Parts: sequence; structure tokens; C-alpha cells
Amino acid sequence: MVQHSVLAKAEVEFEEIRKFEADLELCTRCGFCTFWCPVYREERVESAVARGKNMMIRSLLAGNLGYSQEFADRLSKCTLCMACAANCPVSVHIPDVIVAARADTVKARGIGFPYSIIYHWLLPHRRLFGNVVRLVSFLQGIFLPKSEGTIRHLPLFLSALGRGRNIPQIAPKFLRQILPVVNRPPTGVATKLRVGYFTGCMTDFVFSELGKHVVNFLTRNGVEVVVPKEQGCCGAAVFLGAGDFETGRRLADSNLKAFEGIDYVITDCATCTSSLKDYVRFLADTPERKEAYAKFGNKVKDISEFLVDILKLPASIYQVAPEVRGKKITWHDPCHLSRHLEIKDQPRQIIKSIPGVEYIEMPDADSCCGMAGTFSIYYYELSKKIADKKIKAIFSTGADIVVSSCHGCELQLIDGMLRNKMPVKVMHLMELLR
Ligand code: SF4
Ligand code: SF4
Repeated sequence: MVQHSVLAKAEVEFEEIRKFEADLELCTRCGFCTFWCPVYREERVESAVARGKNMMIRSLLAGNLGYSQEFADRLSKCTLCMACAANCPVSVHIPDVIVAARADTVKARGIGFPYSIIYHWLLPHRRLFGNVVRLVSFLQGIFLPKSEGTIRHLPLFLSALGRGRNIPQIAPKFLRQILPVVNRPPTGVATKLRVGYFTGCMTDFVFSELGKHVVNFLTRNGVEVVVPKEQGCCGAAVFLGAGDFETGRRLADSNLKAFEGIDYVITDCATCTSSLKDYVRFLADTPERKEAYAKFGNKVKDISEFLVDILKLPASIYQVAPEVRGKKITWHDPCHLSRHLEIKDQPRQIIKSIPGVEYIEMPDADSCCGMAGTFSIYYYELSKKIADKKIKAIFSTGADIVVSSCHGCELQLIDGMLRNKMPVKVMHLMELLR
């Protein structure tokens, strides 16, 4: 009887990890992942790489390790770039096990301050979150002088994205304040499709001009765009980064409700796209949620995938934005687009269709830039080292502009360019288009 209750407790303790046990056991410890892991390349310690993390988690299950702070720290030292999984000879998905282990660690240890406040109280309440972002940015503008290399326009919990990190300004008006809920094609343009636009936090609070441009581009091309006010954060930092599955489910359920009855949900951020699709893999704790999250995930499309594969726009539609004409352009593959979603051709196809620009492929275009949300908050020095390799690769192309479609990557590349005093502009894919 006593033994039975101990087992039951262990099952609860390892509830999420157990779901990915097959991956844990498949690893042959060949070490091939050491060639690809951006963290291992910098740190050269076994706990940095998939093989080592796999062994750590197996030791936890065997009772030889506990949910210590050190265990939690080592788990968090992973960008979830999926380079290990993509190159693993036996296709083991250790990043999934890492996310599951983060969730079980949170169940065992809780989430520390101030992230508990941010994840539980701010992120699920979009309006409150927006107001706090604006208020704290305003107060900081008054009370905190700018220091060299730091633009203090974001609240401290966000500008703590690393001491000295360069961060763009909060938009004067949030996207949701600018756009109506329903945006129809202009008179004379027939409506071909109706989509929901998942704006994510960054497009809403920081890149609102980009959001306006995306909606204009789509409506001009016959797409009715619905921007539900009730939508919230995708939850990437919450459930994938921090392992807070409980808040992740609250965010997921409310996003599903916001986009009910809409056939496609498009996003302009690879991390958002991937996270919305990941609800079913990590957060589906009931058959009802499993069905609903799977259905929702299938509706979610990255903007380049939507334009090329669904809307099937002819190449002639991709006309150059005036400030980009005559420029040399290179593309950085966000991990969440290239490896998580296997979307590599569509953005390149769009860029190569734009007349008047020169496309140059960079070496290792799909190597991780080192951002990875909270990873770069906790490990900014390490994150910078990973980024600097990417900056060198970009510079080697001689490009004037590096383009991506993940706002996390864009922040990291902007920071890397400024730190390295490189004159390369960072742009979103959609900004290239008129
Ligand atoms: S995760 Fe894959 S590549 Fe890495 S040691 Fe295990 S089997 Fe080899
Ligand atoms: S997901 Fe990326 S950072 Fe994490 S272990 Fe795999 S290769 Fe390393």
C-alpha cells in the first residue's frame, strides 16, 4: 500500500516527462548533437547538449537527481532551436522532453518572482498587460536616463532582456487601438478569403506599423482580415520557456475562443505560429482540448506560407518597397520557422520574386541566433556569443539588409548589429513589400 502511494506520487511528479518517455529511451548517446547545438558550441559541457540533458532527465526518473535549482537552470539553458532533433540519426526529439521536464519542475518548485506575477497575472490579461507596458515605459522615460547601448523604453522586466541590450521603442499607439476588428478589401477588390490575424505581443505593442502594413497588403489582395480584440499572448515564454502549462492552457483556451469560426489564423511571427500549433503537443490534458487544439493548430499559418501556398499570389504581386529598391538582401531562418515548421522555401520565394533587389544566401542561414525568449534574459552573455556568429555570417554576405519573420530574432539581430557597429538593417519580410 505504501509502495503504491510512492509510485502514484512519482507518476504525478513526472507526469509531463512520461508523455515523452519514448524519446528519452531512443537516444543512443552517439553525440552527433554536439556538432549542432549552439549552446554546446559555446560551453562545451555535457549538460548543455541534448545527450546530456537526456541523461539528466533519466537520472531524475531513476531517483538519482531531484528538482534542484541547478537542475532547473540546466534545463533552461537550451534555446529549443531543434538543431539536435533535426540532425539526430535516430530522430529523437529531446527538446520536447526538455519542455516537459520544465513543466514538471514548475509543478515541483513553482515559478520564482517576478515571473510568477508576469505569467499568472499580466500576460493572460491583454489590456492590463498593454497598460502596464505603456505606464512603466513612460515612468522609466522620466526617472531613468538612457545609458550607453541601452534604450530604456520597455518596462524593466522586459528591458532586463540583458544589461546593455538595445531594445526598440514601444509603439506610440498599439495595433489594436489603430485597427478595426474587421478589415475588408477596398471597393472593387473581390473577397477571396477571410482570415484572423494573430498579432502577438510584439506586433501589437512594438511593431504596430508592420501590423498595419500586413493588413493593408492582405486586404489589397482580396483577403478580409479579422483582428479579434480578445486575443492574447501566444504563450511561448510561458509554457515552452518557463514550463507554466497551467497559464499556457488559460492563454490557449482564450485564443481559441477569440478565433472561433475563422478558417485561417495568420501570424507574422514564427515563434507565435509555432507556439499556437504546439498547444496540442504540450497542453492538451483532456480529449476535448486535444481535439480543439489540433483543429486550431491546423488553421494557424505563417504569413509566407499563407501567401505562397494558400493564397497562391503570382510573383508579380511582390513589388518592392521604395526604401528597399536596389538593396542586397539576405534571409535569416528563424528556428521556429525552418525546423519547427519546415518552412524554408516560401520566404525565399517571396524575396526572390521582388524586382530590383539582389538576394544573397548567407552561410548557415538556419543556425540559431541565440534569442529564444527567456533564454536570452537569463543568459545574455551566452546569447550574445551565439548571436555574434550569426552577425559574422550576415556580414560575410555584404548584404545591406537582413530579413527575418520572427520578432525575437529581429530584436536579437538589431542588438547584435548595434553592439558590433555593423551597418546592416534588420527588417521583417513583409516590410520589403510595397
Ligand atoms: S539525441 Fe540523437 S544525436 Fe544526440 S546523442 Fe542522442 S541519439 Fe545521438
Ligand atoms: S534544442 Fe538546440 S539548444 Fe537545445 S539541446 Fe537541442 S541543439 Fe542544443
